[in-house]
Amino acid sequence: MSHTNNEKAFLIEALQWHLDHGVDEAVLNEPLDRTVPPPMPKAADLPAPSKAGPAVTAAKSNVLGFQEALPQSKPAGEVMGTAQAIVQANKLAADSSSLEELSSAITAFDGLSVKKTASNMVFCDGNPKSKIMLIGEAPGADEDIQGKPFVGASGQLLDRILACINLERTSDDAEKAIYISNILNWRPPGNRTPTQAEIDISLPFIERHITLIQPKMIILCGGVAAKGLLRRSESISKLRGTFHDYLIPSELGGNGQPIPAVATYHPAYLLRTPSQKKAVWADMLMIQERYRQILS
Ligand code: URA
Repeated sequence: MSHTNNEKAFLIEALQWHLDHGVDEAVLNEPLDRTVPPPMPKAADLPAPSKAGPAVTAAKSNVLGFQEALPQSKPAGEVMGTAQAIVQANKLAADSSSLEELSSAITAFDGLSVKKTASNMVFCDGNPKSKIMLIGEAPGADEDIQGKPFVGASGQLLDRILACINLERTSDDAEKAIYISNILNWRPPGNRTPTQAEIDISLPFIERHITLIQPKMIILCGGVAAKGLLRRSESISKLRGTFHDYLIPSELGGNGQPIPAVATYHPAYLLRTPSQKKAVWADMLMIQERYRQILS
């Protein structure tokens, strides 16, 4: 197929427009015109109306990204509705009694559409005997390729920040080691921010993960991790700079003992906004002081 120069210029401009909006990779094998409404399902394919009201049609759920908003039953092969996914995630997480079992349960779980577009499940890095656990938002492109959290540019900055307070993920010494995971285990396409539904569905897994690690302190890296685990709606700038009591839900193994949790800015934000390094330095000093007290 040959194109005129005008058509080429138009196509390049269209590609650039997608890149500017974070669409940096193809997630389907064939192009899909998302402006065309999906076909209406045949009456025979529709679920029987429930007593609670008419079932929402499955048609709209074909559009990737809208699944979470629709509480409906799904044709085979599609991601289930949010409420059903949360129930299933809770059960799988609660039934996992080791890190290996939890990792397998997350890999097998089909309730998140991001699993379909990611290359690898990203579970953890660091020493599982660590007394301190850091939780980020979701894997990015580098993490998706390597299957490990925080290995890209923001991870390298994170390692340098943690080294300033004598913490490193490779340490064999449990008191100097840090263990790292994320709220989401799969990379959202184009590194978009996880939706609230994706966060809610992923929380049972990360909360069970915390139960299995039993850290004495938690660092929440960025707004998604802080708001998600603390169940708060304030911005990260309001949540950082102080310790919070984090309680693991009892269904996921929580023993009612709060774990000190501190929120700080995400290193990706620091790369864009270096003026906030001062605030993160203050957070690190606070963490170091409290950690010393905890270990003494
Ligand atoms: N950002 C995160 O929040 N987590 C990662 O693993 C990488 C980047």
